Amino acid sequence: MTATGSCLCGAVHYRVTGRLRPVIACHCTQCRKTSGHHVAATSAPRESVAVEGDVTWYASSELARRGFCGICGSNLFWDGPGSHLSIFAGTLDGDPGVRLAGHIFCADKGAYYEIADGLPQADGMDALLTTQVGG
Ligand SMILES: [Zn+2]
Ligand SMILES: [Zn+2]
Repeated sequence: MTATGSCLCGAVHYRVTGRLRPVIACHCTQCRKTSGHHVAATSAPRESVAVEGDVTWYASSELARRGFCGICGSNLFWDGPGSHLSIFAGTLDGDPGVRLAGHIFCADKGAYYEIADGLPQADGMDALLTTQVGG
């Protein structure tokens, strides 16, 4: 399976070869600030993601950095500990074949919305949700 994606202006393109993890929504404060709402991200092993164009990286903590397009500002990647690169699902082209599967850091969610889709919710990090890799 191959998935492609890009930022809004098209200066950054990427291609993922292989499987994507189901999409997980993260409601932590950092994700809310960086996206303007909450983040929904899939992930894939770093070596399976080929990026073209200049990604600007912001060190959002001592352990992680967030990649965005320096021209249009699209949030594209979260790069932290582990073997996988998180890819913001809204930047994928077409139907990548993966679906939203759960929510993490729900304790930090914004006060202005409810999570009502019936999918699993974790107050904080959930290793089961974030490390699973599906077809
Ligand atoms: Zn762009
Ligand atoms: Zn988050």
